[in-house]
Amino acid sequence: MQIYKVGGAVRDRLLGKPVTDIDWVVVGATTEEMLAKGFRPVGADFPVFLHPKSGEEYALARTERKSGRGYGGFTFHASPEVTLEEDLIRRDLTINAMAEDDQQNLTDPYHGRRDLEERILRHVSPAFAEDPLRVLRVARFAARYAELGFKVASETLALMRQLSESGELEALTAERSWKEISRALMEDQPQVFIQVLRDCGALKVLMPEVDALFGVPQPQAHHPEIDSGIHTLSVLEQSALYKQPLTVRWACLLHDLGKGLTPEEEWPRHIAHEHKGLKLIKAINERFKAPKDCQELALLVGQYHTHGHRALELKASTLLELLQSFDVYRRPQRFEEFIVACEMDARGRKGLEQRSYPQADYLRGAANVARGVAVQPLLEKGFKGPELGEALKRERLKALKAYKESAAS
Ligand code: ATP
Ligand code: MG
Repeated sequence: MQIYKVGGAVRDRLLGKPVTDIDWVVVGATTEEMLAKGFRPVGADFPVFLHPKSGEEYALARTERKSGRGYGGFTFHASPEVTLEEDLIRRDLTINAMAEDDQQNLTDPYHGRRDLEERILRHVSPAFAEDPLRVLRVARFAARYAELGFKVASETLALMRQLSESGELEALTAERSWKEISRALMEDQPQVFIQVLRDCGALKVLMPEVDALFGVPQPQAHHPEIDSGIHTLSVLEQSALYKQPLTVRWACLLHDLGKGLTPEEEWPRHIAHEHKGLKLIKAINERFKAPKDCQELALLVGQYHTHGHRALELKASTLLELLQSFDVYRRPQRFEEFIVACEMDARGRKGLEQRSYPQADYLRGAANVARGVAVQPLLEKGFKGPELGEALKRERLKALKAYKESAAS
């Protein structure tokens, strides 16, 4: 048997990037030989094994043929006769279809190295169209390598468009899609992921609510970039520049969905877009079965981001309601993520990226003041049950009024 490094490990070494996980392909071996060498099988009918020591993935060279819709609709054929070239041709991009032996000799039948040098993301063969997940993968690689100047080849983009228009994207499971989306959002330029999906028509299928924001104007005074879609991309870009976690990035992407529902006669104003957007955020959350913390923060940021921007003008009672809605007493981290999402929203506007955002510290201070109200003195006064809750609220309101006054002077 011959063993080769494949995929990301080869690509990233040639790019001079750190290699984290290594995938291997094994040519000329049978399952029985692998088991005899101590490899552990990953799944029942999938020719992939884990190395007994390193735990790295070793896959038998295989060919794939599409036999139906979606990912279940694939048949694999692994046998000792399958060649390295046959295995590499089923891969998504030429830059991912190179192999390397232990002497670092490159096997590169589909010119991945040339495409690496020319900064092109190009599909390997027409079989690309057999797995719609590849549309998301290409967009993710475009985001990851945007900084190096990589672009999607026009013929690959055309194939991605064909896949988007064919209805195949709808066959993707929530789990597979979310895995790609969440990884893409954590790249340094997640806005490129959304842009590429839009360029090939996939955004309209996967997230029509986000796609609908493009072409919708906002008031120029607050939004020099005017377009709601461009604004959303900029907010996402800011969230990555500031190294925010996935929850915040997801909330940034979805915060303004309501603007896509505004009747044209009301443009460029978007009255109550925060509230109108909630059902769209809920729909997207559920479509991709986003994790609970992502779902929750996106809904809260959607509903309250304007409150965040107007923090300094809010009445003490409104401020208190905001803090209560976030349950800042038990969930301090979630409120902090809301604050930074608002800040990203404020900065994700053309020419305003460097602006200061005093609302952030003001809100942090308000949360501290509300949290600082002690329960003990109220207990000592004999308050219990719902009365205690009311008394606590009154004390917090009093404290917030004082906070507001001192901040104003
Ligand atoms: P990463 O750095 O994100 O791990 P990677 O290229 O190693 O990048 P993996 O998901 O680990 O990506 O997959 C390893 C290799 O398997 C890829 O380089 C590619 O050759 C192939 N591959 C993975 N998923 C697909 C797919 N859906 N269609 C075609 N080829 C795929
Ligand atoms: Mg990998």
